[in-house]
Amino acid sequence: VKDTQDYDREVESICPFCGVGCQVSLRVKDDKVVYVEGINGPANEGRLCVKGRFGFDYINHDHRLTKPLIRKEGAPKGLNVDPANPLTHFREATWDEALDYAANGLAKLRDTYGGDAVSGFGSAKCTNEEAYLFQKLIRTGFGHNNVDHCTRLCHASSVSALLENVGSGAVTATFNEIENADVAIVIGSNPIENHPVAATYFKQFTKRGGKLIVMDPRGTSLSRFATHMLQFKPGGDVSMLNAIMHVIAEEGLTDDAYIAKHTENWEAMREHLKAFPPEDMAEICGIPAETLRETARTFAAGKAGMIFWGMGISQHVHGTDNSRCLISLALMTGNVGRSGTGLHPLRGQNNVQGASDAGLIPMFLPDYKSVKDPAVLAEFSAEWGVDNLSDQPGLTVVEIMDAVHDGRIKGMYILGENPAMSDPDITHVREALERMEFLVSQDIFLTETASYADVVLPAAAFAEKTGTVSNTNRQVQMGRPAVPPPDEAKEDWWITVELAKRLGLDWTYTHPSEVFAEMGRLMPSLNNITWSRLEAQNAVTYPSLSPEDPGQAVVFGDGFPRANKRARFTPAAILPPAELPDADYPMVLTTGRQLEHWHTGSMTRRATVLDAIEPEANCSMNPKTLREMGVEPGDMVRLTTRRGSIEVMVRADYGVAENMVFLPFAYVEAAANMLTNPALDPYGKIAEMKFAAVKVERTNSI
Ligand code: SF4
Repeated sequence: VKDTQDYDREVESICPFCGVGCQVSLRVKDDKVVYVEGINGPANEGRLCVKGRFGFDYINHDHRLTKPLIRKEGAPKGLNVDPANPLTHFREATWDEALDYAANGLAKLRDTYGGDAVSGFGSAKCTNEEAYLFQKLIRTGFGHNNVDHCTRLCHASSVSALLENVGSGAVTATFNEIENADVAIVIGSNPIENHPVAATYFKQFTKRGGKLIVMDPRGTSLSRFATHMLQFKPGGDVSMLNAIMHVIAEEGLTDDAYIAKHTENWEAMREHLKAFPPEDMAEICGIPAETLRETARTFAAGKAGMIFWGMGISQHVHGTDNSRCLISLALMTGNVGRSGTGLHPLRGQNNVQGASDAGLIPMFLPDYKSVKDPAVLAEFSAEWGVDNLSDQPGLTVVEIMDAVHDGRIKGMYILGENPAMSDPDITHVREALERMEFLVSQDIFLTETASYADVVLPAAAFAEKTGTVSNTNRQVQMGRPAVPPPDEAKEDWWITVELAKRLGLDWTYTHPSEVFAEMGRLMPSLNNITWSRLEAQNAVTYPSLSPEDPGQAVVFGDGFPRANKRARFTPAAILPPAELPDADYPMVLTTGRQLEHWHTGSMTRRATVLDAIEPEANCSMNPKTLREMGVEPGDMVRLTTRRGSIEVMVRADYGVAENMVFLPFAYVEAAANMLTNPALDPYGKIAEMKFAAVKVERTNSI
């Protein structure tokens, strides 16, 4: 729409893509969103990136699911369904028929094999209320905790380390606090592409003279703004961080008063660090000893320092150890709990923070209350009026697919997740989806996962629904419907409630506000945050100390939420990647996102502008490596790991280290997760999607 005034109404809501949580104004004409503008939310102050600004028209795509679908008798499962024409394999059904069919299918498995034969994947793309209802349905309808979502593949290891050492899995400071910092580390993160609006604050910080230390095996565009760029060897993070901490301890640059007042286990940590002198670690991590020393001195000299990290840190078998190192680095320099200081894992999905807070994880009920705690079970049993809550932590994403293979799990309810694209080693995952006796998929498109389903329930997209979401900054924000869902598609909360009723649960919710009120009774993090307040103010940061308090941007200045109020140092040893390059697979494969595409591409590849900018599956390699292989940019290459093979066009990128391949994972025609390694971090149970041994061969020019 050229004339931005040419619209019927505008509705304030939240961008549906990344965890920054930009507030948007959706301009609507003839019941269609025609234009999007940033408004003055606490995280974005009017700014938007290309996805938030131009990535909205997928909601009008003719692939949208508009009626419930039931698989035709004998129709094969799998990717042979054209999302534009699902009626080759499915028939349309009424809502009553489809919901009865879905509930009966799941109930039959429960009654035949036991409740734990059915598990669930919820979604970080849905609202807090929908995530809460989903985990409640699995826990109370089936009596176990086998419920998870994509946080497992995102920051599960970061949360594991934060809960262990800080007592809380959320950020200790908003990313906007960088305005008050004078030094910052960004490690294993490419925010200019993945958290673009957050990156604008990082760039402004450097313009004011802030010292920005970027650490990544891949040179990203943020390094142009950095005072220090440490391009370490893939998998060299723990050795590099321990070496930096070694220098800080050895040279007496620690904040001893902070350590004495706010931490525990420092002496063990100090002893541990003696084994990591930079001169010994330089070869392992690929960073010269003097650079490690200089970086350590720079960070320690800052008056207020922040540490940001992304999936380059978390998606490793040593992901929890990586985060332990970052937490220790912040603690030893006194950089938690004051303005301009903090630990900030940049959350991926728009509501991955909120979905995790709402209990969509197998070891915790809402607000990270342990399923093993009898008092917690008593509290939730009383509120929910049930007596079947399990005290056994459930299986995680990768473990659930393994359990399908070995016959323990027979069916699933999958809401808004696309494991047939997003999970590691998707050949294994797709075999599991095919093997299930019954699968219910609830989504806005017939995704790769939905193509395996027995029944598909058509859901509303973000611009069509009411509900709250929580961003990476702990800001709970109100999403509002701007347009109606297409044809018979329904909001996810409504579908889950209707399924629950048919599974025998006594649910009477008629609006998301009732769900939010129930969450408020069980989740102290939501104290002072009410539905009406969010309707009036759009956003409140938790914790909010009073009905007037906009919320605490920085937390833990007066102690940590642990038994003794102290944060803990947990030493981390060097654990190599699970699969190292060898003669057969001599290079390193790493995966990630591009600016224009979101995760499995189900939305952005159906967004006209975004797909026009990045229409083709691609990978990037260092020009020197390409020359040595006789490969030109634009050639097709075959990438092969022990799990599979794909062909993809290659680009030259000096930022990618030699003998390394960077592969975005949004493209179904060359799905990166055909190749990735499902080896798990033992604590967070996150897969090592950032490191696999790969063979690269030229196929032909395009
Ligand atoms: Fe949306 Fe994230 Fe871009 Fe903001 S930075 S507009 S939340 S994708």
